[in-house]
Amino acid sequence: MSQPLLVATTNAGKLREIREMLAGVPVALVTLADWPGLTAPDETGSSFAENARQKAHYYAAATRLPTVAEDSGLEIDAMAGAPGVESARFGGADSSYPEKFALIYGRLRGVPQARRTARFVCALAFVQADQVQFEARGIVEGEIAPEPRGTGGFGYDPIFYYPPFGCTLAEAGRRKSDVSHRAAAFAQLRTYLLSR
Ligand code: IMP
Repeated sequence: MSQPLLVATTNAGKLREIREMLAGVPVALVTLADWPGLTAPDETGSSFAENARQKAHYYAAATRLPTVAEDSGLEIDAMAGAPGVESARFGGADSSYPEKFALIYGRLRGVPQARRTARFVCALAFVQADQVQFEARGIVEGEIAPEPRGTGGFGYDPIFYYPPFGCTLAEAGRRKSDVSHRAAAFAQLRTYLLSR
């Protein structure tokens, strides 16, 4: 019988991608929708890896299930790596993505396209029996698009231009899963789970 694995995210966009990336791995995916009473922990870490470990420990302790958690976000070089670990809360937790984009374009005013380099980063942690058993990090390098484009994906995808595709990740369709930071990190988890 396949072992349960809790994927500890409340973000529907992330969950959709993670399901796809772990397809075929003999685990029974459990989501936080199966644990409606749980409150989310505060994300107090100063790095993606620290937040991923915090979340994985918290949800594994609350559910007693083997748990994978991830923390991810967008780093913009001309903004000293912001929004970084604050990506979800940038401009205020209740601000919309169009509002976040406007804030970013305001800060990047006068910065030439060649210096609008950016990356998505994903750190994941897998916790079982109170121990971090596996960690991974994935990155995708790109730049901030001249303007938002596309309706696919989620979050900052419309402003993340990926040069090898010549479009934003919101325009990339299923190809996002071939190159994304999350795909890179979960491919490593997939290999680890299959090798156990
Ligand atoms: P957290 O990991 O829950 O703190 O949130 C990460 C935030 O980073 C998301 O809410 C998005 O704003 C952003 N983010 C992470 N991964 C992606 C992605 O693949 N596309 C677009 N935005 C992303």
